[in-house]
Amino acid sequence: MKSKYVLAIDQGTTSSVVAVVNEKAELVEIFCHNFEQMINNDAVLQDAKVIYEGVKEILDAAILKYKPENIVSIGITNQRETTVVFDKKGNPITYAIGWQSKHTKEICDTWKALGYEDYAKKITGLPINPYFSASKMAHLLEDENVLSHANDNNALFGTMDTFLLYKLTDGKSYYTDVTNASRTLLFDLRKQKYDSKLLNLFNIPLKMLPEVKPNKTVFGYYKNIPITAMIGDQQSALFGHLAFERGTMKVTYGTGAFILMNTGNKVFPSQMGLISTIAFQIDGKPIYALEGSIFVAGSSVKWLKDQLGIIASSKESEKLALQSHKKIYFVPAFVGLGAPYWDTDVRGAMFGITADVNKCDLVKATLNAIAFQVKDVVDVMIKESKIPLEKVYIDGGVSNNGYLMQFQSDLLRCPLIKPENTEITVLGAAFLAGLGTIFPDLEYIKKHQKVKKQYQPKMSFSEATAEYQGWQKAVKSARTYK
Ligand code: ADP
Repeated sequence: MKSKYVLAIDQGTTSSVVAVVNEKAELVEIFCHNFEQMINNDAVLQDAKVIYEGVKEILDAAILKYKPENIVSIGITNQRETTVVFDKKGNPITYAIGWQSKHTKEICDTWKALGYEDYAKKITGLPINPYFSASKMAHLLEDENVLSHANDNNALFGTMDTFLLYKLTDGKSYYTDVTNASRTLLFDLRKQKYDSKLLNLFNIPLKMLPEVKPNKTVFGYYKNIPITAMIGDQQSALFGHLAFERGTMKVTYGTGAFILMNTGNKVFPSQMGLISTIAFQIDGKPIYALEGSIFVAGSSVKWLKDQLGIIASSKESEKLALQSHKKIYFVPAFVGLGAPYWDTDVRGAMFGITADVNKCDLVKATLNAIAFQVKDVVDVMIKESKIPLEKVYIDGGVSNNGYLMQFQSDLLRCPLIKPENTEITVLGAAFLAGLGTIFPDLEYIKKHQKVKKQYQPKMSFSEATAEYQGWQKAVKSARTYK
């Protein structure tokens, strides 16, 4: 019997990837295309045409190598919120606005001043922030060329999933999925449709928005291969970890850290700065999630290497931390602090320095700060959802640090699970795309996943509590200096 495969596209912030996954739910090969963003002060722009051409090139290469007749389906996961405006032929009208772009802040400030925030938050689960697509769309509509296309009924908005789908299907499919839609600031989380009042307030025409579908459906065809899944990247990682049960969580430890907790079939509105979002919808009702992020995770390790020069590689941080016996605290508030503090003016500070403190102690304090910040967010999630934490799945570059992951498990008092597969985000889209065909059901996929490492709390409860109390004191002190 010939092998069968699913392909998954992961369209990210600076690269696109196509993964080939076999019937055993194993990653067989990765094809990659890198591209540059254009950064101009607060504006972060991307060339959607270049991105599409790159995706097409690697997708075609994968299809050629693995043969179209052996490829059962295609899934798409993508950087969320990044917004493209394109004409009905699929040509981008301007550069796409990247998710990191902050240059639509003025629009957001106006909306807040007009008092839209409470309503928007209630409906969409999101604060008014340049990060989400609505202010990017409003900004694009201020462009004369976009406006003239819109007046001619020849301008469409889309996040990257929608744009790629439109292009790959030659304009036949103009859809998005619930997870991407839930990041637009226009989507009613509970009713799963665009909210007409928000469309009016923000002046975004409904006819310029794609129809919203569940994550698993036939979205269209590319070279006769069905595209059967679309899902935003963080949600795809949650799915890739197989975090299907309520109370399970995933933490992606990269430059920053992204934390998502599966809250089952209920939306938990957050009063403490977390985001309520859709985790996934396969069939029937959606599963929801609480989401939080920390701004500085791996970037602080990079800072030790590139700015202070006290480690030669990120990896070395583990060895040095294990040699430290001092208890000092570092609050790496390089760009302020997020949940639950939401203090943009606080800056980094160290506490407890004595003359015998050495670089090992500084490295340990830097790593510990990552774990403390994650605990800050996780505690809010537990408090707001009242859902006990079952287990945490981990991925991303920093999750390779055994010292830190053990300390994280000690602080969270729950198991941390690191899967054998590192490409969790793209696997999520592949699992979804192959579900019901080469992967008969979720149990089948679960059975085929291997755990690389599991961490259990080792430190005593009282010691872990004292460590965390020290951190809280350090944050409080850091916030007094402005
Ligand atoms: P991103 O996707 O955000 O670029 P990655 O998941 O590739 O991030 O992780 C890269 C980050 O992880 C870098 O900031 C690096 O400093 C950090 N990192 C990599 N390996 C380790 C390690 N063993 N210990 C601590 N940090 C690490």
